[in-house]
This record gives sequence, C-alpha cells and structure tokens, in this order.
Amino acid sequence: VSRFKMSIRSSSVSVAAAPMLTKLQQDCATPLPVLRNVAASMSDDIRAGLAVDGGSDLKMILSYVDSLPTGDEKGLFYALDLGGTNFRVLRVELGGKDKRVIAIESDQVSIPQELMSATSEELFDFIASALANFAHKGGNFSGNKGEIGFTFSFPVKQTSIDSGILIKWTKGFAVSGTAGKDVVACLNEAMDRKGIDMRVSALVNDTVATLAGARYWDDDVMVAVILGTGTNACYVERMDCIPKLQGEFSPSRRTIVNLEWGAFSKGLPLTVFDRDMDAASINPGEQIFEKTISGMYLGEIARRALLHMAEEGSLFGKSVPEKLSMPFVLGTPDLSTMQQDSTEDLHTVGSVLYNVAGVESNLISRKIVLEVCDTIVKRAARLAGAGIVGILQKIEEDTKDAIFGKRTVVAMDGGLYERYPQYRRYLKEAVAELLGPETSQNIVIEHSKDGSGIGAALLAATNSKYG
Ligand code: BGC
Ligand code: MG
Repeated sequence: VSRFKMSIRSSSVSVAAAPMLTKLQQDCATPLPVLRNVAASMSDDIRAGLAVDGGSDLKMILSYVDSLPTGDEKGLFYALDLGGTNFRVLRVELGGKDKRVIAIESDQVSIPQELMSATSEELFDFIASALANFAHKGGNFSGNKGEIGFTFSFPVKQTSIDSGILIKWTKGFAVSGTAGKDVVACLNEAMDRKGIDMRVSALVNDTVATLAGARYWDDDVMVAVILGTGTNACYVERMDCIPKLQGEFSPSRRTIVNLEWGAFSKGLPLTVFDRDMDAASINPGEQIFEKTISGMYLGEIARRALLHMAEEGSLFGKSVPEKLSMPFVLGTPDLSTMQQDSTEDLHTVGSVLYNVAGVESNLISRKIVLEVCDTIVKRAARLAGAGIVGILQKIEEDTKDAIFGKRTVVAMDGGLYERYPQYRRYLKEAVAELLGPETSQNIVIEHSKDGSGIGAALLAATNSKYG
C-alpha cells in the first residue's frame, strides 16, 4: 500500500481521486479494536438470541438436527439445493462406514433471473421439474420412493426436521407468496402437480448441511460458515445452553443452531456507499452484515465507490463511463479477477474494466481501482473472521468445551471463499490476530467442498422415513 501511495504522489499526473481513496480506506478500516468489538458483539447477540426468540439481530434458529452423521448411513438419497445463484439436484449413494460415498451424481442449473421475482408456484414447479428430469435420467422413471434432503438457504423458522416456515427472502429473491408458508409443503404440492412421489425427510439450511457433510469426515468440526452470494454460520451447541428450549437437558445433548448472521449489524465500519446501496436494495435496513461481507454485494460497493471517484475525482478522465452507473454491473468475481492480475501494466484490470463497465483506464487509475477492490474485500474478510471468532469465543466461554485447547474445525463453503484468494487470506489473518498465535494454531479453517450436497443427503438418511 505505501509503495503504491508513493507512486501516486511522485507521479506527474495529478490524481484528484487519491484523497477519496484515502477517505475510503479510513472508513473501511478494521484495526484490532474494531474486530474485537465485532467479535464480542457477535457473542453477545448469540447469547441473547438463544435466550429468547427475538432477543437479538440473530435468530439463532434451532435446526432440529440433534444427531450428526456417524458414517453408518446407507442407501440412495437425493439432495436439492436452492440457494443463491444456482439450483442443484444430487443423488448420493451411501455405503456405510467403510465405503462411505459410493457414488454421487448431480445436475446444476442457474436460476433464471425472472424466477427470482416469480410466484411461489412457479419457483417450486421449476424445482420439481428439475428433480423429475434428474430422477428420470437416473432410471427412476416413476420418480418414486426417493427421499430428499432439501437444502433451502434462506431464513426458515423450523417447526420440525422436515418442515419450516420461510421468514423472509434474502439475496435478491422476491418470490411472492412464499413468506409465512411451509416450504416443504410448497415443494410437496409442486411434486404432486408433476406426479412425483418423493418425500422430504430433512429440511436444512446450507450452513447446517455443510456442517453435517464436513462432520461426516471429521469429528472436530464445530462450526460451518457460508461465504457465497449470501452469508451465514451455524455451530454445534449444547442443549442445556439454549434457554429458549425450556427443558432440562443433559450436558451431552447437542444440536445445531443456525445463527442467520447475515442480519448482524453491530459495530460495523460502514461507508456512504454501503448506506446508499442498502437504501436502494429490496430489503433496506436488513441483512447489514451480509451486505458488507458477501459476494452479492462487494462488487456493487466497489462500483459505487468508483463511480463517486469518477464523478468527483476524474478517476477515468473528464467523462464518466455511462455503464458504471448501472447497479450491479461490476460483480464480485470481477473484483477477484482484477486482484489476481500480476502483469506490469495491469492488463487484466484494464480489460475487465473495459469489458464489464466500458471504462478506459490508464495505469494510475487501474492501481486506484485495485486499491478500492482491496479495501472493500479486506474489510469484508476481516469482519467475517471476527464473526467466526465471536462464535468460537461464545462456545469456549459458555459451554466449557475448552475448544481452544484442542483441534477445532470451522468448515467453510461458498463461491466467495472458494474463488477469492485475498478474501481467504485476510479472513485467516484476522482470526489469527484475534486469537493469538497459540490458540489459532488449534483452529483449522477448512474448505469443505460440496459438503452441503452430501450433508443434505446424509441428513435425509439420518432422518429417513422408510426406516
Ligand atoms: C440466508 C441464509 C443462508 C446464507 C448463505 C443468507 O442470505 O439468509 O439462510 O444460509 O444466505 O447461503
Ligand atoms: Mg449454496
């Protein structure tokens, strides 16, 4: 950073955007005290949400997953995964302890944009059709007797392991008529309409499916985090530490709790660009943590900052590229692509800017663009790291599981984590800074690739209705 600043200053070209960059960096700064405060607030919000429904920004949703996969699961199971940008169907053959996953097949379709604002029936018909096609391809011509683990990655108030009511849509979904309804019933009705006779045995959040999938291979997994289009986390909690369960439980009984941490909001360093983006969103005032750290939004925050620098600081010369005014024209994958550029003239940065936003740039403006990306991504990743530490510290303090003295695994998934190396690095750095070198040695932050597909199938097996 400092070398770069020098190069701007020593350059003969005057760059009015440079002080704007400095301002952005200040507004987005996440020094240790800020991170400590976020981690502590996360712990507090977890406790308050476990005490009583509505006790904090965090819903602390009970998953009804009280027994984790053991490895003994056997049979053929389906998994449906409706989340951010894609919809997936999987068929998983489980072979028990020694064989584990014998075969896995899957189909993936990207969710058509218009479906995201369609009616509930249209959305679930789409899902049921994709399932029917997939089942037929696998030789299950009547679409019969399949058991499904349904990963539905939105805030759902679970009413049992196989039912739950959609609280609200997130991540740009605005499907009408689903909120307040049991999403399993919605799927069942669609399957009836398509003549498919399959059953949902488990309805799970993607974090929960990821935790189950990772735990299948590794007993030390305690936390799962999704960093993709949206973001969320879940962890294994002792039932006697959940006051809102209102029961007497032995300390050995555990369950998975879904934080819905996207709704967290305390102590976040926000900028005018965040506030404007939120105000223009379909859910203003909601999902503030998600809007600061997840894949759907980072490109848009950067675009807003760049547009401001172009308008007020002539970042790209006298005129402002028209396309740069289009919301969401710059995607988070574009930021990542640009940040991987190692050419001297920042050739890749130049072509991404040109192809995506119609922007003509020189070396100095490209360097500033990279700094803007880095600033937004660094803040996001470090805040995500602080959130993870907040969960770990809560477990350590309240449940006396002394996780800090032994190996503890945090299973990570999602496109942002998977495909943005700088994001991964900043996140891990923040966790290490917060925990200190000794403790952080025991905390393993691990990518659990596709854990959620297998995880949902495993939970369908654990909760099988055919016995
Ligand atoms: C949803 C969560 C989900 C997360 C990651 C959020 O928008 O509210 O339920 O786990 O995205 O997919
Ligand atoms: Mg997903």
